[in-house]
Amino acid sequence: MLEEETPGIESKIGAPDLSCPKCDQLLPNGLGIIHCVMCKSDVKVEHEGTRKKWRQEKVSCPDCSKILVVGVDKRPANLQCSACGSHFVLNPHKPKVEISCPACDRKLRMNKRPGEREVLCPACDVSFKVKF
Ligand SMILES: [Zn+2]
Ligand SMILES: [Zn+2]
Ligand SMILES: [Zn+2]
Repeated sequence: MLEEETPGIESKIGAPDLSCPKCDQLLPNGLGIIHCVMCKSDVKVEHEGTRKKWRQEKVSCPDCSKILVVGVDKRPANLQCSACGSHFVLNPHKPKVEISCPACDRKLRMNKRPGEREVLCPACDVSFKVKF
């Protein structure tokens, strides 16, 4: 069974892209204690600028569309709409990247996750490897 995603909305603000001090690979996006998926070490990541932007981020309530200031400097954040009272979760930003298929040059958008993976181009059916 697939894990269910927390219902909610996605933050538009991500933490800066950082590489692991131990293995120099890309770390998953976030702040606090980040678990490096490549070398399995836990790395402490702090970035005051991102925390400040997170506090000031504006989101619209998924139920009534009211614009709310988040006021919380972590992600995920549990929020309650001041207008309709509904609860929702503001999930961490998932960084996206655009890459071109090496065979047909078609632009593909994908989640930027650390590590290597195989991608199948939907346009020309060629599979190729990407690594971040
Ligand atoms: Zn690492
Ligand atoms: Zn609302
Ligand atoms: Zn292609």
